[in-house]
Amino acid sequence: MGLDEIKDVAKDFADKAVTKTGEVVEVSKLRLELSKQQGRLRGLYQRLGSSVYSMKEKDYEDPDLIDNLCQDIKENLKIQKKLQGQIAALKKMSVCPVCGSRNPMDSIYCNQCGSRLKQEFQQNAKEESASEAEPADE
Ligand SMILES: [Zn+2]
Repeated sequence: MGLDEIKDVAKDFADKAVTKTGEVVEVSKLRLELSKQQGRLRGLYQRLGSSVYSMKEKDYEDPDLIDNLCQDIKENLKIQKKLQGQIAALKKMSVCPVCGSRNPMDSIYCNQCGSRLKQEFQQNAKEESASEAEPADE
């Protein structure tokens, strides 16, 4: 029975590590995607600019090309806005110190496990979690 207790503690630690890592990966993934989109946008602007220039220079018009490029730029800006929103939302979330789930910043208690989300809790968590030990399996 003593062995089971040790196992549970180990499992708890492992779960938290995974959650914490997942968190970091998610935000940095979004950031990476955002910077990719920013690079793509620069390329689109450049193509738009050089297309307009060569049309002017060679005296022809290709409104479809311009339209397509503008459409791509619009789409790109939409994606960037969405990514920025997702990053902001992730950063604004407060992460539960007990179960690792994300909650709106103004939440006082975790939506998942009902633990208190305030920082004072984190300092007391070690003492309290010993008496609060419940089965984590669902
Ligand atoms: Zn929780």
